[in-house]
Amino acid sequence: MSRYLNPRYAAFEVYTPGEQPRDMQYVKLNTNESPYPAAPGVAEAVAREAGGDGAGGRLQLYSDPECAELRDALAARYGVKRENVYVSNGSDDILNFAFMAFAGNGVRAFFPDISYGFYKVFAELNGVEYTQVPLKPDFRLDPADYMGLNGFIAIANPNAPTGLAISRKDVEYILKWNPDRVVLIDEAYVDFGAESCLPLVREYDNLLVVQTFSKSRSMAGARLGFAIAQKTLIDDLNRIKYSTNPYNVNRMTLAAGVAALQNDAWNTENCRRIIETRGRAKQALEALGFEVLPSSANFLFARSDRIGGGELYRALKQRGVLVRHFEAPRIADYNRITVGTPEQMDVLLAKIKEILGA
Ligand code: PMP
Repeated sequence: MSRYLNPRYAAFEVYTPGEQPRDMQYVKLNTNESPYPAAPGVAEAVAREAGGDGAGGRLQLYSDPECAELRDALAARYGVKRENVYVSNGSDDILNFAFMAFAGNGVRAFFPDISYGFYKVFAELNGVEYTQVPLKPDFRLDPADYMGLNGFIAIANPNAPTGLAISRKDVEYILKWNPDRVVLIDEAYVDFGAESCLPLVREYDNLLVVQTFSKSRSMAGARLGFAIAQKTLIDDLNRIKYSTNPYNVNRMTLAAGVAALQNDAWNTENCRRIIETRGRAKQALEALGFEVLPSSANFLFARSDRIGGGELYRALKQRGVLVRHFEAPRIADYNRITVGTPEQMDVLLAKIKEILGA
């Protein structure tokens, strides 16, 4: 840190992304990426924008700040109007904007004590006071803990890193008990088997649903997230966008998003495969004595009495398998394991057996 940095940005701990190492080829199960490529047509759409098809491309032109074509495609896909859709450079961007727009200035933020690590960072970045609401001892979220909080609420559903989901009814209960504040439901992993609360958008003007193309649509590298809400909330997000970077989604990514939605059956099929692999991997881990939380996401959260979380993480890394370990209260015994291909999961299980000497 230089001596010039505004102390406001010096005080807090920044978010630590999962490792993206280059020292060797790992079986990479640490950042919840899809093991499958993006839908057919996506690469061609990107190439067309960039001129890779030999026709010159359009990179010299700014991207559409309205993102009209992609928003229309998302609106059609989810049965809403263009005015209900906001798109961004990864869903992290929307989360940040939401903390900026709907919390602070006396409005406290509330989110679970164990959840996506960025919520705390965005709160601190934006000078928002926050309370981390403890999950139950079994990591379940009790909606009653969110009764009448009168603050901005952010909940990942399914939650990360636990993979546990709450029902749409639970979300509705939280919305009803907090009618004067925004409730953000982060559905980054919803396509892997949780109940989306998108149908509630029509009825609740305080609901902001956030999703991403990073997981279920195999496009983490394209950086594309979106939010669906009533027009008034979308207008608020646009106020922040037009005050920071109106061209926050680039041409290649806009084109990739439209192409991915044209082939969305491809993505649905990949989700089905991942859910199937998840079930088999969970069983196999349980057969090795692991306790594995029921997951509605593309990862498993698991611990064993036979080996510590950090120890297993390090032993797997030595053997070329990367998983995610959080050295944090309540969850240091666990590892979060992304569901890869069946072959990748076989490697993981073989290495775990080797480590446990089973
Ligand atoms: N929300 C949750 C719960 C996540 O785990 C992630 C992925 N790290 C994100 C949001 C952000 O995803 P992206 O910015 O790639 O859309």
